[in-house]
Amino acid sequence: MKKGWAKGLALGLGLASAAVPVMAQDKVDKGEPVAKPPQLIVMISVDQFSSHLFSQYRGRYTGGLKRLQQGAVFPAGFQSHAATETCPGHSTILTGARPSRTGIIANNWFDLSVEREDKRVYCAEDPGVDGSNSRDYTPSADTLLVPTFGDYLKQTYPDAKTVAVAGKDRAAIMMGGAHADQSWWWGGDAFATLGGRSTPTVVQTLSARRAADVAQASPGYDVPESCSDSAIPVALEDGFTVGAGNFARKAGDVRAWRSSPDFDKAVLKLAEAFVDDMDLGKDSTPDLLAIGLSATDYIGHAFGSQGAEMCIQMEQLDAELDSFFTFLDEREIDYVVGLTADHGGHDLPERGRMQAAPQDTRLGAFSEKVIAETVAWATGRSMQEGLVYSDGAVGDIYLDRQLSPEEKEKAITALKGLADAYPAVAAVYSAAELSAAPLPAGPIEEWSLMDRARTSFYPGRSGDVVILAAHSVTPGNPGPGYVAGHGTPWDYDRKVPILFWRKGMRGFEQYEAVETVDIAPTLAAITNVSVPEGSFDGRCLDLDPSVATTCE
Ligand code: ZN
Repeated sequence: MKKGWAKGLALGLGLASAAVPVMAQDKVDKGEPVAKPPQLIVMISVDQFSSHLFSQYRGRYTGGLKRLQQGAVFPAGFQSHAATETCPGHSTILTGARPSRTGIIANNWFDLSVEREDKRVYCAEDPGVDGSNSRDYTPSADTLLVPTFGDYLKQTYPDAKTVAVAGKDRAAIMMGGAHADQSWWWGGDAFATLGGRSTPTVVQTLSARRAADVAQASPGYDVPESCSDSAIPVALEDGFTVGAGNFARKAGDVRAWRSSPDFDKAVLKLAEAFVDDMDLGKDSTPDLLAIGLSATDYIGHAFGSQGAEMCIQMEQLDAELDSFFTFLDEREIDYVVGLTADHGGHDLPERGRMQAAPQDTRLGAFSEKVIAETVAWATGRSMQEGLVYSDGAVGDIYLDRQLSPEEKEKAITALKGLADAYPAVAAVYSAAELSAAPLPAGPIEEWSLMDRARTSFYPGRSGDVVILAAHSVTPGNPGPGYVAGHGTPWDYDRKVPILFWRKGMRGFEQYEAVETVDIAPTLAAITNVSVPEGSFDGRCLDLDPSVATTCE
């Protein structure tokens, strides 16, 4: 499948003229006006930036996030699928396609045909590399089965430059795709990229600076007055607390650095370096800069969304974006900014219960062991036989190849019964049910659970069954670095803001639901990029509030 579009892309590159894109040339021929495309598209994903976080803080922003609210504001954007994880979410933002088409069904899936013993495959790796595994892997974009906006941009404008930078590899890879001119993320001790690529001097310099930052201890941030109400310690079962932290860290603690505002600053500095080094936005050909800011997600996982930690992060993110936009202003680039998130998030249930959400809970009696026992019971086999593969107790569940079709049928029937037996389970769907279900239509917020699961389903990658957590249930037990999360089909995990801003545009707010798959068609329209009919699951969002439109 990958080969097919890559070949199409190569043909397109041969045909397109450098100066006038095909779609714009049509307009010129008909004597219609052609809107001037921006010189630079800046697409920002703030990992785990939920709609509720945006609505909670939007009145307090004074910097970059205030500026974006003077543009087109869509507070009810949706990552419409059920598996609200980072890799699937980032795969929708610049492809205009849902995971049922991008093939990125989860952060990890299982391929029972691969050699590695645990059969686990990371969403942005090449599992065919000898000796690799899902934790020590070779990053690759080959898992992404559709082109990205950057690919379409280069097809229309062969001179367009495309760059992706992010905290996480899967964010850069899913937004930049295989053909980005530069694709960089934090690799643990330095910025890293796809195989076979060289390291520009600016990246070497910034890697060294960031490694030096990590090597130093930090006293953390002062808790601003506006965050003092949020600074309530939440004691967790095994004796540690969250809620009143300030990102103080010991020398050399890279995980603490990653879970702090400093991580986003590092990525934005790299973005700035590429703007200057590659002259992004310096001529009339539009360039693309995709930026994945991952700190909000690490902070949400480590501390939840309602403590002093997230409050500090929201203030810092606003200030960092202000500084970044000022940097672009100073270069007199005509740029458009889009900002969204790969998924939302849910605060830790232990604080939810303290703050008027008594229904918030964890999985309780439901676990991976229950799944294994259920399959063993249904097939009359022993649990020691390794009958089941899964990445946790919810999500895609794979049955081992040693089971006969009849045994698999029995196991699937028994697994479906878990929805009635455990309050933590909302629904269990089989691959056969999801294959037969039509792709959903109609208002996104009213989609059934089956609809949501259908758009996360890709045959051959998805499991034999998918288990969905019930509402208000947080999968996983709390521990240092992970107390809260996302990944469920519920709106607190699906709903994200979508913001667009360009200097001089007239702002407006549209409260009705839109989708992250609408972003790529919207950017394609304002850059006059031609895309084959039927490539997108989304639609163009008209960014002009008057009778004029940016969609034609
Ligand atoms: Zn994420």
